[in-house]
Amino acid sequence: MTDLDLQAVKQSVLDYCLLSMQYGLNFNTQGNISVRLGENRFLITPTDLEYDRMTADDMVVVDADANVLGGPHQPSSEVTVHLAVYRRRPDVNAIVHTEPVFANVFGVAGEPITGALVNMVIYTKGDVPIMPFALSNRTEFGDAMCDVMGDLNAVVWANHGLLTVGDNLRDAFKTTVAVESAAKVLVHARALTDKPIVLDYKSLGITGSL
Ligand SMILES: [Zn+2]
Repeated sequence: MTDLDLQAVKQSVLDYCLLSMQYGLNFNTQGNISVRLGENRFLITPTDLEYDRMTADDMVVVDADANVLGGPHQPSSEVTVHLAVYRRRPDVNAIVHTEPVFANVFGVAGEPITGALVNMVIYTKGDVPIMPFALSNRTEFGDAMCDVMGDLNAVVWANHGLLTVGDNLRDAFKTTVAVESAAKVLVHARALTDKPIVLDYKSLGITGSL
């Protein structure tokens, strides 16, 4: 990857960081985004810096062991979680972690987000499971979370937030928005009925990617 390409990736990550604030998916220094740059190189947002104070040059490049290869800051404290996903899922090239309200409602309730909207299940490839609460700044959390997520594209961290993955950053971000929107509809549907109508991804017969 040339310097020019790397700068474009940094800018793209920043753009999605700002969009996540605009959509109300994060507050303060919550959330982090990463992209696989190539063999053993990953770009991730820095720790302890608000998205709206961040510039493209604040992004951090790390290797698969979380050693910093470039950038002026330390990486997000959840870098090992991202690296666990990249190790486990060769199909994943981008990861978005946010802390949106309605996905968190399901994490606190300890219930998977079932298929309220077709848009969500197409992106997630199934109901969004719940990873039980644990501190997320360690590799063990990442490995356990990967077990819970399996081949799906989203997982809720109980009492914390949401993580989505994708072949590229646009897809990973779209999945975040789709999950939060479906979670919001499902919470409201539950006010009307104990038995909302939900979709089962596998019975939809969807093939191919997004
Ligand atoms: Zn978080």
